Amino acid sequence: MKSCVDYDVIVVGGGHAGTEAAAAAARSGAQTALITHKAASIGEMSCNPAIGGLGKGHLVREIDALDGLMGRAADRGGIQFRMLNRSKGPAVRGPRTQADRFHYRTAVQDLLAELEDISLIEAEVADLIVSNGHVMGVVLSDGREVSATSVVLTTGTFLRGVIHRGTERIPAGRYGDQAATALGERLEALALPLGRLKTGTPARLVKTSIDWSRLETQEADEAPVPFSFLTETLPLPQIACGITATTAETHRIIADNLHQSAVYSGAIGSKGPRYCPSIEDKIVRFPDRSSHQIFLEPEGLDEPWVYPNGISTSLPDQVQEALIRSIPGLEGAEIARYGYAIEYDYVDPRALSHSLELRALPGLFLAGQINGTTGYEEAGAQGLIAGLNASRRARGLSPVWLERREAYIGVLIDDLVTHGVTEPYRMFTSRAEYRLSLRADNADLRLTPRGQTWDLVGPARREMFHMKQERVARARSILTETSVTPQEAEEAGISVNKDGRRRRLLDLLALPIVEFEQLSSLHPDIPSIGADLRPILEADALYSGYLDRQEAEIVALKKEEDTVIPADFRYDLVPGLSAELREKLDRIRPHHLGQAARIEGVTPAALALLLVTLKGRP
Ligand code: FAD
Repeated sequence: MKSCVDYDVIVVGGGHAGTEAAAAAARSGAQTALITHKAASIGEMSCNPAIGGLGKGHLVREIDALDGLMGRAADRGGIQFRMLNRSKGPAVRGPRTQADRFHYRTAVQDLLAELEDISLIEAEVADLIVSNGHVMGVVLSDGREVSATSVVLTTGTFLRGVIHRGTERIPAGRYGDQAATALGERLEALALPLGRLKTGTPARLVKTSIDWSRLETQEADEAPVPFSFLTETLPLPQIACGITATTAETHRIIADNLHQSAVYSGAIGSKGPRYCPSIEDKIVRFPDRSSHQIFLEPEGLDEPWVYPNGISTSLPDQVQEALIRSIPGLEGAEIARYGYAIEYDYVDPRALSHSLELRALPGLFLAGQINGTTGYEEAGAQGLIAGLNASRRARGLSPVWLERREAYIGVLIDDLVTHGVTEPYRMFTSRAEYRLSLRADNADLRLTPRGQTWDLVGPARREMFHMKQERVARARSILTETSVTPQEAEEAGISVNKDGRRRRLLDLLALPIVEFEQLSSLHPDIPSIGADLRPILEADALYSGYLDRQEAEIVALKKEEDTVIPADFRYDLVPGLSAELREKLDRIRPHHLGQAARIEGVTPAALALLLVTLKGRP
């Protein structure tokens, strides 16, 4: 281990944001220290043992396209790969896998260990070194100082975390882990805009105490698709989950004991994730529903615990026991660990720039749950961008980020820094305006070239990607340059109007009923186009008409959107702008007109005023 002085980048926290941040900083050439409470829990999944899902799967593919860790770790630890929304259009399909928590954590640790330039320090960070308004390093709880040009905080649910269960209140970062209390106090003293949020987790059940014979099962996909563009084979066997549901008796037990729930007794005032509600929330918010589905997800191949997805709770122990035993298949279930809610500090992300650096404290970057998000994938995506920018700052390079039209990562960060959060933020495909082109299947084609210019991509991916680009270009040229008569199409089993007009293979593929294989007899090279390229080519063809229109809109918008608003821009000097908008824009400080346009209340007329003033500047 390197001695504790002088790094380019210090990353605080070994969760999903911290590991991606440290890896991105190191990959891009920064001497990096990863400081975390416990080395053994690096890559730990605090809650459900699963990676990906709707919108989240896109983030994992994008992290992977930029050579991040999460996709490869999920492939090494995945035990139930499923493509969600398979029956819907390719743009909204969400890759997901349940993960073996031991194998996932081990994979993250192994991938980190492969990187040079990362030093691991097992310690608690208690303070920041601030000099002349810049963050210059951290102070550990034993008093040691570690200096660096940039510091990335990824403290998750640990900042002044308090676990709530019934009437119990336990200061903790998550079950069994100490809270980061001193650091939370320091951030408050630095006058950072802090708030409180909450999240919760269900009880864990002993696998052998569940009556699996009574349960419906959900199998993995027959042909599982890995997350990483580098993965050729998935190492672990695929397993099934059990499905059960709450009963009228479950609902009665919860309703009778709501006053004992930490959330409903008024003990927690902060907001939890609306899209991942506790079972108490579900009973209160949906009183007409007689049942709620529960997925019983084994936490691993050899792990003795099962995660009952759908019943997170902060009710007292004995109520948790009663409610669980009222569920079919769980009548004899033993609880290995009780569920709980956790309340923690977050920093209002509107205080950050798009590079995830705090505007008021240069040198300090924030990523993950500390910015008001929930989820491993959202954390990992921010970690990668924060780590990269922390490294660029240390190397004297200007900040970089992704635009909304380029990536879900761009949507996520732009939403956070522009709008802030009122509840834990999670990603959905509906948040992306350009979702037809921002697909999970083409994440590498969109982003790996960018990752290469940012020095994020290692030689293995570079080489593989180069070959893939050539294969894609060749396949696209076959589809666009080969055309057939209606008669030839008919002979291939594809019926089109007999109007004598030749059709490109791309136009045939765009027909919803046509499968790629049907083109095989129409060009000798079609059968050799790799299975990995087919979903991309099919989706490109399906959306080709829309994509052209979307592209035209993007170009038109981009013309004005990219007009940069200088950091020292005086909104009070824009004639005609309302006082309310002046105040708002001054507070948010958008980087460019595109970001200003998305601020609530900014009208086209206000944008025109801004543009005129900007263009009139010397
Ligand atoms: P974390 O994964 O929490 O990692 C934080 C890291 O920072 C840890 O390694 C910690 O040891 C370290 N650390 C913190 N402070 C210090 C310090 N001062 N010094 C040194 N090290 C420090 N997500 C969902 O999507 N759905 C859910 O239903 C859900 N429920 C959750 C329930 C619970 C009880 C918890 C705890 C989390 C839940 N999550 C859920 C959230 C999910 O775990 C997080 O979104 C994700 O782990 C955030 O990643 P992160 O890297 O920001 O933080």
